[in-house]
Amino acid sequence: MLPNDPAMLLSVVNTYLRDEYDSLAELCYTLSAPRAALEEKLASLGYVYDEAENRFVYREKEEIMNDCLFCKIAAGEIPSKKLYEDELCCAFYDIAPQAPVHFLVIPKAHVASCAEVDGGNSAIVAHLFEVIAKLAKEQGLASYRVVSNVGEQAGQSVPHLHFHVLAGRDMTWPPG
Ligand code: AMP
Repeated sequence: MLPNDPAMLLSVVNTYLRDEYDSLAELCYTLSAPRAALEEKLASLGYVYDEAENRFVYREKEEIMNDCLFCKIAAGEIPSKKLYEDELCCAFYDIAPQAPVHFLVIPKAHVASCAEVDGGNSAIVAHLFEVIAKLAKEQGLASYRVVSNVGEQAGQSVPHLHFHVLAGRDMTWPPG
């Protein structure tokens, strides 16, 4: 039985394809899962089945990755100090930390900023917040700040959705 939630579904299906099945056709046949419905659901997240890789990959991966720093970090093409990674997202330490603890949580799929969150990708954003809560707990952070800058005036310098997680010092409000 495959999960209903698209983000969970992506993770489960790609794990099955990696560990147990040589093709999507084989997986769908063995699990009696309707392939068209499955592909439609994952397409709602922007993921399509890649026959050669035998996994669902983000549709615009190639074109966008060419000029997006965080797409390249997510793909491991540019090194980073990663502290977490799964099918949908990854977290890595900020190269210019603004607090004793400062890491970024990003979707692997390219979303330019919070301004581009919609019904088609909000399941990924919900997942990012689950990951933030999990990582903060694991690191024993009792208090922390989660920030996402949108646009130049707010200070966004990398146009790929990311949540800063900052902790370990007193913080002022309002932010500068
Ligand atoms: P923002 O300015 O809100 O868009 O945040 C972008 C963040 O990415 C900044 O805090 C940068 O220090 C950080 N950053 C830029 N390049 C890298 C990199 N290669 N590895 C890790 N963090 C980076």
